[in-house]
This record gives sequence, C-alpha cells and structure tokens, in this order.
Amino acid sequence: MNKEMILGHAKEIQYLTKACRNSRLAHGYFFYGPKDVGKLTVAKGCAAMLLCENQSKKIGGCGVCQACQRMKSETHPNLIVLSLASPFLPIAEDEMKRRSKISIEEVEAIRRRIALASKDWQIVIVEAAELLSPDAANSFLKTLEEPNEKTLFIFISSKPEYVMPTILSRLVPMRFSCPAAGELKRIPGATAELIQVSRGLPGVLISMTLDDAQKKHEQGIYRDAWRISQSTVSEALATAGNYQAAADREILLEHLFRLGESFMITGNASKSKNISKALRALETLETTNVNARLATDIIVMNLHA
Ligand SMILES: [Zn+2]
Repeated sequence: MNKEMILGHAKEIQYLTKACRNSRLAHGYFFYGPKDVGKLTVAKGCAAMLLCENQSKKIGGCGVCQACQRMKSETHPNLIVLSLASPFLPIAEDEMKRRSKISIEEVEAIRRRIALASKDWQIVIVEAAELLSPDAANSFLKTLEEPNEKTLFIFISSKPEYVMPTILSRLVPMRFSCPAAGELKRIPGATAELIQVSRGLPGVLISMTLDDAQKKHEQGIYRDAWRISQSTVSEALATAGNYQAAADREILLEHLFRLGESFMITGNASKSKNISKALRALETLETTNVNARLATDIIVMNLHA
C-alpha cells in the first residue's frame, strides 16, 4: 500500500481520462470535498497522465518512465504544488511558522515561471485554495482569464465556501466524496473498526495502517467522542477541554456529528439527546472553525426536529 493509491472516484477519473484522450481538458478544475478523501492524489495523477513519456493517457501515468518516477518523488520541474507547507518562494524558518496565507508574490513567481516555460504541459496544483490571500487569488484570476494552451490548474479545497467566487467562476467544479466501505476494505490492514475511526477518509485510513502512532492518535479521539456521547455535559466539556489543537478538535466534532447521525438513524433517542447536549456544550468552547460550528448547529437542529 502506498499513498498514491487511488480509491473510489471512478466517475471523476473516467471523466478526466476521457477529457485528456479527446484533448478536451479544461484549463482549470476545482476539486472539493472532505479532507484526505483523495483530491490531491487524483490531481497528481492528472499531472502524471499529461507528462508521462509513454503517453499512457491514464490517471497516474505508466508509473515507470522517468517523468512518472519524478512525479512520484515530486521533483518534476513541470509540476508545481503550492500549499501552506510548500511555499513557492524561499521563506525563513520563523516566518514559516507564522505562515497562514499563500502570498501574491508566490503566485506572481508562478505566473512568471509558466510564461517562460517550454512547450510541454505545466501543471499547477493549489492545495487549500481557501488560503490564497485575496491579492494572490486575483493574480491567479488574470492567468485563468487568459490561459496558456498547455497549462492545467487544479485548485483543491475542503472548505469551498471560503474560496473566492471569482476564481470558482473560472473553474470546472468536481466534487469528491468518500469512497464506499467496500472500496476502503481493499486497503491492506483495513478493518471495520479502522474504517470507522478513519471517518471513511482513505488518506486517514492509509496513514493509520502505515503508522502506529497515527493509528493510536486517531483511535484515542474516536474513543473520546464515544465517551462524550455517553457522558454528562460537564464530563463532555472536561474531555473536550483537553483538546488544544484545532485540527484534533475538528476531528472530535466530526466523530460526534457522525455518532449523532447514526443514533438518529437507529432511533436511539436518549443517546442522540445526549450528543445534542454535548455538542451544545462544546459549542461554548472557543473554536476558530466555522464549519464545525455550522455542522453543530445543523445536527442540533435535526436532533430536535
Ligand atoms: Zn509514464
């Protein structure tokens, strides 16, 4: 098992492959859907499809030619992956810690690089497109309005509501959903328990099967969510209060949301009431994640409907 393996997304892959074979790829796509569902893997697979020296014309390329090999090690000069973690311009270490947006300087440098590029395909992947500063997004917009024939942009986001609408209007949207449990079972080492703990996200599931510490971490959060669903409000608050990292708290809320849903489906009224109270209580904890707060509101409303 490796992180490049693609699970599910058959429809999206078929669509992109067909577009490539018929030379009908759009200049820009917007991949959106849950975090760790496989958007970046498919985006990189698209890049390999276009740059493969064996013209394999399939997502992921042939996997053996030099271009495909360089794609795997992310050293291909025609692939740019821009994210918070991988800035396009050199950045000082202490500045890196404070980095919360993708800057216009990076986007302008990318635009200069593309303009000077050879006749080969250039692929620009922007991870977490919601983190582009407004200036950076506007700068991309100029390129998207006058695209090069052989440049492909793929913008990725798990928070599409925060991506600038002007950018979205220039892109072909593609929604990525969680693969079915049957697909996830193909991952070596995937058990029903791990699939549940992974929230159905292939990226999380794969890292859990590869990394024991990651597995224990995710299992711990799931156990806490379960405990909260069984406990009083003050106990729930105490458990959630231990969560300092916003990312972990988001996972905890996601689990609670899912547990609440499953209790609703199975008609377990007392348990869903418990979760509803716990979620309300958790809401009072300061959280920067508006998504989680919205999700909380929705589930609480549903639980009381
Ligand atoms: Zn190849």
